Amino acid sequence: MTKAKFSKKQLPRKKDDLSAWFLAVVQAAELADYAPVRGTMVFRPWGYALWERVQESLDKLIKGMGVENTYFPLFIPLSLLEKEKSHVEGFAPELAVVTHGGGEKLAEPLVVRPTSETIMYAMFAKWIKSWRDLPLKINQWCNVVRWEKRTYPFLRTTEFLWQEGHTAHATHEEAEEQVREALAVYEKEFAEYFALAGITGIKSEAEKFAGGLKTTCFEVLLPDGRALQAATSHDLGQNFARAFEVKFQNQVGEEEFVWQTSWGLSTRALGGMLMIHGDDQGLFLPPALAPLQVIIVPIFSEGEKSVIEEYLRQLVRELEAELRVRVDDRSSHTPGWKFNYWEVKGVPLRLEIGRREVEEEKVLLFRRDTLEKEYLPRRGIKEQLKTILGDQMQQARERSRRFIEKQTREVNDYQEFKEIMAEERGLIRAFWCGNPDCEAQIKTETKATTRCRPFALEKEKGHCIYCRQPAQERWYFAQAY
Ligand SMILES: [Zn+2]
Repeated sequence: MTKAKFSKKQLPRKKDDLSAWFLAVVQAAELADYAPVRGTMVFRPWGYALWERVQESLDKLIKGMGVENTYFPLFIPLSLLEKEKSHVEGFAPELAVVTHGGGEKLAEPLVVRPTSETIMYAMFAKWIKSWRDLPLKINQWCNVVRWEKRTYPFLRTTEFLWQEGHTAHATHEEAEEQVREALAVYEKEFAEYFALAGITGIKSEAEKFAGGLKTTCFEVLLPDGRALQAATSHDLGQNFARAFEVKFQNQVGEEEFVWQTSWGLSTRALGGMLMIHGDDQGLFLPPALAPLQVIIVPIFSEGEKSVIEEYLRQLVRELEAELRVRVDDRSSHTPGWKFNYWEVKGVPLRLEIGRREVEEEKVLLFRRDTLEKEYLPRRGIKEQLKTILGDQMQQARERSRRFIEKQTREVNDYQEFKEIMAEERGLIRAFWCGNPDCEAQIKTETKATTRCRPFALEKEKGHCIYCRQPAQERWYFAQAY
């Protein structure tokens, strides 16, 4: 019998060392592996199947907004990127630039896309002529490259996968509505597929998207108390439209610049989800995203194999109509090895079927989230499993919500702020006067940045946590991943 390459016993404990735990789980669960170029990562089948589930679910929601998929080239002429000044300044330190092609030095260097605003909007300028061409709403699923100094699987890789939505509208109101709608789509995706709660709001000027007018975000809280920006939706205003001359004739024949939005979710969100839901046994995948929801491990005994196989065939036929299910009947591994294997990979439910289960017309169920085993009657099994999977989703989402609630503190004293950020971290709601200098000083002294200002924020009377000047808004602060 084959010995497991990674047994659960070798995983570091999650709460002792989150980073070491995650690196070990990524390998043990066969999600991803390091590639030859530093900071790049190979998605192994289990990891890519997860991303495919994200694509499948999110793509439906995106198309539901009347957005169509496109594909733009990987290379962007450097001159195009330089058209929007603050955009190029924001991305310059992270650019990968191609200077040679076909054995010759290129007349103009090409940038490997860090994001596609510039190449897309050069085309928008060509496609949009009149108010009749608006709104233009497109999305692209692709890879982008940002040359990061410090990298970490899923959360920060030099090349990553994402979707980027881009729209152009006749009015600012319409664009603002699109920004809200895209963020609502992300909230739905996180709640219903990632089983994650998070915070939403508006970014400060220092933290917003380079070249945009306003950035809204969905952020989650990692188990080590750091915030992770999981998705963003930007109001680009007319900044890019001016730089790329994306103009249209309005209904009275006047020329106007379009109003634009862009919004994205990447494989980093997947990393956050894996980190939040996992435990000392490995991953726990929320059932709505899990490539496999039910793994069945048969326990064959001499002379009973064909009876058990027939029982399995009928069971699978019934379940696979609505659930993602597989039988692991490999004779090369023991049942115990298989239990470990699928537990590390985070499959939400396992069924064990042996002679006794067949005789008594039942199944032995193992729940990956609670680690509990129980017998269920064979009759009506599909409905029972669907109920349990739904319960797992709900409980996982609830756990992440409670964690945020517990780790969010209202702080009015800077000394206390500093102490919290030096120890437990988490989210702090504190007054900020809006002065970028205070924000920058807080970042230098505590590593905490403004994460966002909640949308539905009631004005209060208070004093800036840093300079003590009057302030009316409590912002979310946290150390960001
Ligand atoms: Zn201040």
